[in-house]
Amino acid sequence: MNQLQYIEQNKESIFQTYHTLHDLAEPSWHEQKTSLYLKEKLKNAGIHIKSFPNHYGFIAEIPGQSDQVIALRADMDALVQEVDGVVKANHSCGHDAHSTMVLYTALAFKASGIIPKYTLRFIFQPAEEMGEGALKMMDEGALKNVNYLFGVHVRPHFEVPYMKAAPIIIHGSAGTIKGTIKGKQAHAARPQDGINVIEAAALIVQKLKQIKLETAVPYSIKMTQLETENSVSNVIPETAHFSIDARAQTNDLMDELKKRAHQIVEDVIHETAASISYEVEEFVPAATRHENAVIIVENAITDILGSENVIPCCISQGGEDFHFYTAKNPQLSATMLGLGCGLAPGLHHPQMNFNIEALHYGAKILTKTLLLALEK
Ligand SMILES: [Zn+2]
Ligand SMILES: [Zn+2]
Repeated sequence: MNQLQYIEQNKESIFQTYHTLHDLAEPSWHEQKTSLYLKEKLKNAGIHIKSFPNHYGFIAEIPGQSDQVIALRADMDALVQEVDGVVKANHSCGHDAHSTMVLYTALAFKASGIIPKYTLRFIFQPAEEMGEGALKMMDEGALKNVNYLFGVHVRPHFEVPYMKAAPIIIHGSAGTIKGTIKGKQAHAARPQDGINVIEAAALIVQKLKQIKLETAVPYSIKMTQLETENSVSNVIPETAHFSIDARAQTNDLMDELKKRAHQIVEDVIHETAASISYEVEEFVPAATRHENAVIIVENAITDILGSENVIPCCISQGGEDFHFYTAKNPQLSATMLGLGCGLAPGLHHPQMNFNIEALHYGAKILTKTLLLALEK
């Protein structure tokens, strides 16, 4: 039985696995049962697993004729959110779908009994939603000898319709700058004796609004949190904490925004005599386009769904920690399959739902993707 026949024949099992994983929903860094369930399925098929002591991420591998590696990545974590009045872990980002499809792709290759030309590695990562899991898996050596890396994400119907798919998802870069402003307290009757941190923050807000970059590429930068430690209204506030949220569709543009933000803070320090400390936190890089990988996935979609169902590119304002893999390894050829599945109302929505038939053709596209990459 070849790989695609295996997927064809295991449609019901794919749906069952999906429902099991959906019900197991666990938050970032707590994917214990999810990980155990997936590992059992892989081990039972005779696939080698490598686990790690401090988290639930793991690597499954089918050795090839060469130690060069083609890798497929799945994420396993759910979001914690309020669903019908109850706060719980909920798979509203579809990581249960991704794990299901990557699992069956691995099982299909194992069931074929063929020793592939290159080693096939299946990376099941934790904590995507926190932007930390990809970095952790790289620390564990997940990208050792990897030439091609593929990922998958279900897409809302308005980005990629049902029965269609995109060979690349262009996620933007997202970053948060967190800082503290220190001024000088004074009686509110004598503001000239103090340094007012709210005035300093207001100056930052104004200057951020004045950033105008000459580009057609979408971006934004704005203050999203500000609070002082002042408990009374008749004292000039001395300490304030702020957050700036920055978005850019390319990494170059994000670098430029960070540079501008840095200059603004320096200017405000100079103009107000307040002292300001800050750092960039929770930074997720933008997607970069790797033509070789994109063409492979495009051909896989064409083979499974037909060329009329290829959406050339899916642009998303959201962030995705998959792009850490490529940002830190520029020699890697990588892309994410954007899978149309009738997903509504949207990702991260507590009532997010999609047509699970998509898992079947999604697993076929991933399987075909690896088959085509093995021909390289
Ligand atoms: Zn998400
Ligand atoms: Zn996601």
